[in-house]
Amino acid sequence: LAICWDKKTLTIKFDESFPEAGALIGFGQRAIRTESESRTEDSLQTAMANEQARFHIFLGSKVLVRKDDAPTTTFLCNEAQAFDVQFEEAVLLGADDTGPRLAVPSSFDVESLVPPYTTYDMRALLYSSAISDIEASTVAQAASLLHWQRMNRYCGLCGQKTTSRIGGYRRECKNCNTSQFPRTDPVVIMLAIRGDYCLLGRSAHFPPGWFSTLAGFVEPGETIEAAVRRETYEESGIELRRVRYHTSQPWPFPHSLMIGAFGEAISEEIRFDANELEDCRWFSRDDVRKMIDDNHEAGFKCPPTKAIAHSLIRKWVQASDD
Ligand SMILES: [Zn+2]
Repeated sequence: LAICWDKKTLTIKFDESFPEAGALIGFGQRAIRTESESRTEDSLQTAMANEQARFHIFLGSKVLVRKDDAPTTTFLCNEAQAFDVQFEEAVLLGADDTGPRLAVPSSFDVESLVPPYTTYDMRALLYSSAISDIEASTVAQAASLLHWQRMNRYCGLCGQKTTSRIGGYRRECKNCNTSQFPRTDPVVIMLAIRGDYCLLGRSAHFPPGWFSTLAGFVEPGETIEAAVRRETYEESGIELRRVRYHTSQPWPFPHSLMIGAFGEAISEEIRFDANELEDCRWFSRDDVRKMIDDNHEAGFKCPPTKAIAHSLIRKWVQASDD
């Protein structure tokens, strides 16, 4: 593909791998066909009546796991009924080749769970290998959708109760005839690069030794590139020029999309925001390579492989090796 513009030929290079990096990190594997555009008003009831329908059960923001020889977060209707699930609050996630997939909240007391049943929060799920990456991705979809449902029970315009439609992919206010659709909040997460160094910061709540990429919400009216530059400057005092997209990651805390990018740093003096970070430094490629391999002499570490921060950091380190 070549685009002719102003007597120059700009070539669009598809020089990234396929599947892209985002398909290989946590929560990035799309296995469910949502088909929210083609649903009818009885799609949810039809799916629930299907004997092959499987349910992801949520106790608050945690997902129920049956942790036996083949751990799973999916339950057929019979097994789900033992956990006080609120079927009237069920949402239809979609379907895969095995049948419909739904998510349902439960009022079951977490303290009353006995093995092999337990719960995982989304962070534990991200870093666990108990269930497959594909299943974890569907759980993330479910967690985000159920949270949005919970937070939109009333109309923001007139204050009346809203009702869930098309299996939970829309909420409707009959009083003022408005609809709300599931939201996704964009967050930029970026690795600033300056020659042979990259910029990493440390939040107070990180595990000991952890350093990671900077990140922050995209603000209304902002491009992704502007958000990358603004957030980096606000958090570290470092100015960026060019910005390049890397990949993205669904981030169910509660319903964000992490947009990963590289930024070209054009300043070096760090003045970090002490409200956001407790440390922020330039790290050399050699340092970062050791951090990835978890053998840095100072005990510094990077986030683990399933985090988009890791993908950004690894991509930069590997690029230097080419
Ligand atoms: Zn209304």
